Amino acid sequence: MTIFQAMTYLSANRIWPSVICTDSLSSLQLLSQPLPTSYTHLIASIHNLLTRIPAGAVKFQWIPSHTGVPGNEAADKVARRAASSESIPVELPLDVTELKSMVRQEVWRFWQSKWTSARGQFALGMTKLSVRPWSLRTLQSRRFETLFARLRLGTAPLNKALYQIRQAPSPLCTSCQVAETTHHYLIACKEYNEARSQLRRQLQLHGVQVLSLYTLLGGDTASSLAWPQTCRAVEQFISATHRFGQ
Ligand SMILES: [Zn+2]
Repeated sequence: MTIFQAMTYLSANRIWPSVICTDSLSSLQLLSQPLPTSYTHLIASIHNLLTRIPAGAVKFQWIPSHTGVPGNEAADKVARRAASSESIPVELPLDVTELKSMVRQEVWRFWQSKWTSARGQFALGMTKLSVRPWSLRTLQSRRFETLFARLRLGTAPLNKALYQIRQAPSPLCTSCQVAETTHHYLIACKEYNEARSQLRRQLQLHGVQVLSLYTLLGGDTASSLAWPQTCRAVEQFISATHRFGQ
């Protein structure tokens, strides 16, 4: 934008020969491309201005940094002020890349706001705050990956989910007489206290102090540092409980 404004000024006032100095190597690289992939309208506008002045009348010079050169530091300050001001005097149409990025951001924002207000209705909402993809994968066996995904979604074959598809006579845990959900199975069920103590001990060794669906299932707040160890510990817990027919 700064280069465009400099070009506009030089061209309007017919000030040449001139040299435009910039520390933005990426801008100069974009300008030298016949078909730039970003800022296409801006680059096209600069190319357009260049065709309207005598050949070679304006040259571009890359300078590594503004630092330490009084004149350049003043220019830098003015550029920063222009960039932070709300109204930029020159209006240019958005190029396709910028437009795509804005649409993408808006879709993410819209999806996130929908999820934030509705996630309480879903089992997955207990583990996942953000609509962004899971950052943590289990990297265990295929069987474990599948079970893990079902635990995250609340569709693992525990009584509450089984009852909903008429595969269990009751949604309740047979020991505790409360709904047997993922949370109940992993965090609360007294039937698995021994296996859970072992799980807790293993996680503490790796700095994970809190047993929650976030930490056990790799939710948004889980620590990625201890993730491989967490996965192994959860897998051992599942095996020890024999709840899924192992
Ligand atoms: Zn129970």
